[in-house]
Amino acid sequence: MSSARAASHPQPAAHRQQPPAAQHPATGEAAVQATQRAELDGELDLPVLDAVADYEKIKRIGEGTFGIVYKARDKRSGELVALKKLRMERERDGMPVTSVRELRVLQTCKHPNLVELKRVVTGPKLDSVFLVFEYCPHDMGKLVDSLSKPFHESEVKCLMQQLLSAVAYLHDRWVMHRDLKLSNLLFTHSGELKLCDYGLARYFQPWEESYTPGVVTLWYRAPEVLLGTEQYTEAIDMWSCGCILAELLRGEPLFPGRTEAAMLELMSRLLGAPNERIWPGLAAMPHASRFSLPPQPYNYLRQEFPGLSDSGIDLLNRLLTFDPEKRITARAALRHAYFTERPLPRLPHYMPSFPSAHDADGGGGGGRGGQHRNERREMEEAHGRGVKRRYQQEERDRFGEAFGDARAHRRPEVLRRMD
Ligand code: AMP
Repeated sequence: MSSARAASHPQPAAHRQQPPAAQHPATGEAAVQATQRAELDGELDLPVLDAVADYEKIKRIGEGTFGIVYKARDKRSGELVALKKLRMERERDGMPVTSVRELRVLQTCKHPNLVELKRVVTGPKLDSVFLVFEYCPHDMGKLVDSLSKPFHESEVKCLMQQLLSAVAYLHDRWVMHRDLKLSNLLFTHSGELKLCDYGLARYFQPWEESYTPGVVTLWYRAPEVLLGTEQYTEAIDMWSCGCILAELLRGEPLFPGRTEAAMLELMSRLLGAPNERIWPGLAAMPHASRFSLPPQPYNYLRQEFPGLSDSGIDLLNRLLTFDPEKRITARAALRHAYFTERPLPRLPHYMPSFPSAHDADGGGGGGRGGQHRNERREMEEAHGRGVKRRYQQEERDRFGEAFGDARAHRRPEVLRRMD
């Protein structure tokens, strides 16, 4: 167990005995209380202030699993915003639990690199609810696909520092995102990166706990999740950060597999196949016997990234470490020597700006094999939406159809199952 993780996770003998006031090493916040307060306690204190009629819809810019996203303008201030319509049509009595979670995270987590929820507004029908976000002209997935050459290394460092700051902030507050990928990183004209889409985010515990299996869009999914574990940790987000760093550096996804078996094969071919020696417990993973890993013992990161410094390779290796217990944390990654050696990270203010794909008909295209790359990412996105739909269904099955009845989520049975 890594020392950073050992500090926040009790030893195995203590598993399941939930320490009454386990404290987070960075924030000192009590885990149980933070989780219950944030996810369940009290009424949902939503700032429902305006009517959607106060906003002029400009165009549809995206579709997530949980709703359609429009570019819109606040008629009173002229400010551009992103309006996300929550999908409620399948809920009989209220808001799906996944949306409640997303809102909870958005309300309690405020950081310059997390997309800001400005307010919640309602439409003419009882069930139409919109989230109003600050508007960001780019998503990194479409942007990277449209570039004729990848970002300069100083720009990659700037983007990674912003991403890692957002992830460290979430992890300090006991939130794992569970869907980090390029298309969930928004980018502004002033060079700021903003993490969005908390549809799969949830609060985690500092002891071993079971969560929904099969989360995270396939290309960015950690090996322990591919191997079927339900007892993962926030380290799954760090694997995704490794995939994102590699993709920003070379302008191509690192592991563009179409199936779970293909993903494990690609990982093993690049990093060397994992075994019990480097990852104790591997053989006992639920799906370990389903996949046969190629007998490939070498790590080829150096050959794959020939221009990258030793510390760049070191950071990639620490993020793409098979054993989640040994994988680097977001705080440690921020302190890594890669960010203090030349080329130094560019300041956000000096990042290049690009025409917004949201304003172009048909979206970002150009670049190297743009059409093919758009289609490939679109397929991956569709797969990601499938992951979320399955998750939403599972949560509905666990907690009942809806959370519309304010008293429902106070029932002890629901509370117990939700912890
Ligand atoms: P989501 O449901 O949050 O995954 O959003 C789906 C898509 O809508 C994203 O991939 C973005 O392209 C777009 N989008 C979401 N939020 C914003 C925002 N605040 N500003 C601009 N575009 C956004």
